[in-house]
Amino acid sequence: MSAAIDWRTMAERLNIRDQAFINGAFVDAASGATFECVSPVDGAVLARVAAGDAEDVDRAVKAARAAFEKGVWADLAPKARKRTLIKLADLIAKNADELALLETLDMGKPIMNSRNADMRAVAECVRWYGEAIDKLYDEIAPTPKTALALITREPMGVVGAVTPWNFPLLMAAWKFAPALAAGNSVVLKPAEQSPLTALRVAELTSEAGIPPGVFNVVPGFGETAGQALGRHMDVDVVTFTGSTEVGKLFLKYAGESNMKAVSLECGGKTPNIVFADTPDLDAAAQGAADGIFYNSGQVCDAASRLLVEDKIHDAFLAKVSALADKYQPGDPLSDKTRMGSMVDKTQTDRVLSFIAKGKSEGASLAVGGRQVRQETGGFYIEPTIFDRVGNQMTIAREEIFGPVLSTIVFKTPEEAIKLANDSKYGLEANLWTNDLTKAHRIARALRVGTVTINGRDGGGIEVPFGGYKQSGFGRDKSLHALAKYTQLKTTYINVG
Ligand code: NDP
Repeated sequence: MSAAIDWRTMAERLNIRDQAFINGAFVDAASGATFECVSPVDGAVLARVAAGDAEDVDRAVKAARAAFEKGVWADLAPKARKRTLIKLADLIAKNADELALLETLDMGKPIMNSRNADMRAVAECVRWYGEAIDKLYDEIAPTPKTALALITREPMGVVGAVTPWNFPLLMAAWKFAPALAAGNSVVLKPAEQSPLTALRVAELTSEAGIPPGVFNVVPGFGETAGQALGRHMDVDVVTFTGSTEVGKLFLKYAGESNMKAVSLECGGKTPNIVFADTPDLDAAAQGAADGIFYNSGQVCDAASRLLVEDKIHDAFLAKVSALADKYQPGDPLSDKTRMGSMVDKTQTDRVLSFIAKGKSEGASLAVGGRQVRQETGGFYIEPTIFDRVGNQMTIAREEIFGPVLSTIVFKTPEEAIKLANDSKYGLEANLWTNDLTKAHRIARALRVGTVTINGRDGGGIEVPFGGYKQSGFGRDKSLHALAKYTQLKTTYINVG
């Protein structure tokens, strides 16, 4: 169906929402300020978006609090919230072409990824939490007969969500879907690079019947709007995805304000460990290539460190290098493109500086390494592979967030575990082997939130996702995500 769409013509006809969405209505920033929303596809200005700051965040939080106190959403039967969220999921699915196009124009990922992966996952996420919420029971504690102790889960109140630009709507949905399902009100601050899909979905929340004030979107900059949300005295929880550096700031903001709960999904440096006994080396090579080049490597669990057993190093690297060629960047609006642009110039320059650092620290550049397609006005980097990387080199330690793979050789499983764990991050690890015992032993030894064995992508909405160490804490996805947006209440009734 989508193959027939002329995305450029559709882009010309888009009606882009560029105002903040507060209390059920689109409004300008209180200051009247706007910022340019630039497409990394070709450098064109897509819109001038309201630049919300502390005053707008305060308006949104007040609206969110008022809606929560009135109980227009929080006090509905779970079954009623379920119906509305399923309606929202249907509306997202119905408008998936438009949303996918907005996403691609805004952050440069291939249109087929936006359409067939991201928007499907967003609709599924909203539907999943809608479906789940009327099937969860509370608890009764084992007390003497003279008492009845109820342990109930209650919504937190006002949830602040601060989200990144790599999967703009999906990362937002991972937060707002469980938060809304649990009965909270939400104030979302999308990344300044990619606010457009969140604003369009805000409109769809109204259409689905979510009452005014329950879902608000304040676009703006991190240091102003993001910080204001983090420091607001009437926000009960902040849920964040982004860099470790900014994640730490949210802990500080909470400590210096109202001690709000904080959950953080931050960076990663995923080790992808490939043993010589891997059952299907071609599948492993495909996994290695997809793991670093998908979304131009702008993925928090991108498999950016390839740990390969020395015996198969040459043959395996040759396979991954051949596959890299299929990821040459192309027009994000073409249905055939597998790798689009970087999100913006800043990120492009950052990735290029890591490539330069890799060379200067002595790694061997095996594939790519250059900025390309500059004539388009957009920001594109070739799939890039470094060989002979030492785990102490900058490119093996820092989250590059670009299509740059660092290849590191190991000889024994113990060495692989040591290398894999020698990182400040602990989000995910991938592991390829035919030996189930070895796989289990290594999986237990890895200090990461997800271990994927003989595959790349650690599961869908039904499994938890989040980090150990400086990759953060708290889990997105699955029923476990609801823990972040609810608190436990004990009601102890003496009955005689
Ligand atoms: P940031 O961590 O800076 O941005 C993530 C979100 O936090 C955005 O909404 C941003 O707003 C907001 N933010 C930024 N600064 C502050 C602040 N001082 N107070 C409150 N909120 C703030 O990521 P970047 O966009 O700068 O990307 C830099 C690097 O971060 C990437 O190269 C990558 O390594 C990592 N990253 C990791 C992600 C992940 O999924 N784990 C996602 C994105 C980035 P605004 O956009 O307006 O600045």
